[in-house]
Amino acid sequence: MTQPSDKALVPFVSVDNMMRLVHHIGVEQIITQIAAQIESDFKRWESFDKTPRIPAHSPHGVIELMPTSDGEAYGFKYVNGHPKNTSEGLQTVTAFGLLADVYTGYPTLLTEMTLLTALRTAATSALVGSYLAPKAAKTMAMIGNGAQSEFQCLAFRAMCDIDTVRLYDTDPNATRKCAANLKNSGLTVVQCTTAEDAIEGAHIITTCTADKKNATILTDNMIGPGIHINAIGGDCPGKTELHKDILLRSDIFVEYPEQTRIEGEIQALPADHTVTEIWQVMTGQAKGRQDDRQVTLFDSVGFAIEDFSALRYIKSAIEGTDFYEPLDMLTDPDDPRDLYGMLMRAG
Ligand code: NAD
Repeated sequence: MTQPSDKALVPFVSVDNMMRLVHHIGVEQIITQIAAQIESDFKRWESFDKTPRIPAHSPHGVIELMPTSDGEAYGFKYVNGHPKNTSEGLQTVTAFGLLADVYTGYPTLLTEMTLLTALRTAATSALVGSYLAPKAAKTMAMIGNGAQSEFQCLAFRAMCDIDTVRLYDTDPNATRKCAANLKNSGLTVVQCTTAEDAIEGAHIITTCTADKKNATILTDNMIGPGIHINAIGGDCPGKTELHKDILLRSDIFVEYPEQTRIEGEIQALPADHTVTEIWQVMTGQAKGRQDDRQVTLFDSVGFAIEDFSALRYIKSAIEGTDFYEPLDMLTDPDDPRDLYGMLMRAG
């Protein structure tokens, strides 16, 4: 049997190796480093091919493909969203992703992306928070204490300097789990029994709930002046978290309007409602927070460039390490046209 040459071996980062890598670098450090990569890619927004992600909806959930390219590298993520999964002992969101070289079309990285999605979503949230949240913000309400929640709390601690999180979930077990996981994080953790209790004294509110319906996690009377809302959970047609009146009172910031108008909170608003693209705030072309009383809303749905940034980050982070396995997933015949001969010789 012939051995594949090095150029036909694709680095593969398993869940196990991703966990080793995160422990090696540190959770807050890796989130901060991924955020830096996302910020630098968002600042060259116009160099990317962009398209709303491609969803396959079913009564059970959604499966999505998220592709993008900057002309040199191409990346995509496969991701699902199945809120009913947790009741069956499975995760709501799982993902894997691939990076490829545009010149040859050959894959250059295959990796798990369930952990990486949690890291990049947290990185994006806190990066956007660093532009929009009030500078004096020290307390964040974290509503929805599932798989993403600890990553979100740690990202805001590392990048927005919050020192207190107030947790609420309809399932008290989820809140207990989140509080226990954050025990030695340096954050003051307060477990709350209602959403109203959770937002008490908070300048940042993160909503990260999963239910495939138009839910009302926050109502207008709960939102005082100066709040920054980081709304993550509403990311599908028919799946939102905020009462429409909050949207009408907020300055709304989005990743890619063409996708957010389909999937985000703003699906409840007319298609011409003004929103600001967050990359333009990062480049200085648009204004972020302008005063202490403004209500800012990051209507996050998750965009392909964030995954592309995370993939490129991982590709460079594993170079020269053993945090990956070489995967034999590309054919490599001696004569590129003799695919059949290669198959027969293997017999
Ligand atoms: P999860 O299922 O692990 O956790 C969701 C939690 O929300 C559960 O603990 C559930 O009990 C709680 N919940 C449901 N309804 C609630 C309510 N009305 N009030 C308070 N809590 C409630 O899911 P997850 O992986 O943490 O993801 C959460 C959501 O974020 C999902 O909808 C997912 O699609 C979305 N998401 C968005 C992005 C993004 O980039 N914007 C990225 C990842 C996940």
